[in-house]
Amino acid sequence: MQITYLNHSGFFIEMETAYFLFDYYKGTIPRMTLEKPLVVFVSHSHGDHYNREIYHLLQQHPNTRYVLAKDIPTKKLVAEWKERGVDLESRITSVRKNTTQKLVLANGNTLEITTLKSTDAGVAYLLTYENQTIYHAGDLNLWYWEGESKQYNENMTAAYLREMEKLRGKHIDVAFVPLDPRLEEHAFDGLKIFLDYTDCEKVYPMHMWGEYGVIERFLERYPESEGIVVGIEGYNP
Ligand SMILES: [Zn+2]
Repeated sequence: MQITYLNHSGFFIEMETAYFLFDYYKGTIPRMTLEKPLVVFVSHSHGDHYNREIYHLLQQHPNTRYVLAKDIPTKKLVAEWKERGVDLESRITSVRKNTTQKLVLANGNTLEITTLKSTDAGVAYLLTYENQTIYHAGDLNLWYWEGESKQYNENMTAAYLREMEKLRGKHIDVAFVPLDPRLEEHAFDGLKIFLDYTDCEKVYPMHMWGEYGVIERFLERYPESEGIVVGIEGYNP
């Protein structure tokens, strides 16, 4: 599995027999060979996770599928592409929260997609493919804001723990989890709980708004995460 950080929460993964693209909104997508199918995942419709540029990938890479959270409207999109003679509809799988489904890729292999409910918008993805388990949180995080009411933060914490409970004890090979410096002293909470609940081999922090120093600070606070949480150097390969 080869992982390329694109920007913010955007990652490109090259598997042995497929490519996965997550939450692309900007950055350079590596070169692809046409034999391997591409699956593009979007966790929700916010501008820092979704860019309509992704539909142009279909022109360069005909074996492309789109897995989109339900909050992304597709009707108009499908009609627009139809006018250009492109059948986008058959390429799109819209997913709801708390579901599991199997997608058979053009290479005949099965991709299992489970969704969690985000604490912001849309979903988080838990995938199984080639005996690997991959988690992309989207904006599922413990959004504990100092300026919010006690009630808001309590509800937020409960909602986050409810989702993490679904991952308890689960072996995850690679995860992508928010580490948002804007949360200040609560910035580490979501990732720390994720690490405590799961049996995860590697975590790429994301949603850092370019402030990569937050990774170093996390590792200083939780040195036991060294070797699991990918450091800044992992973002400058
Ligand atoms: Zn976001």
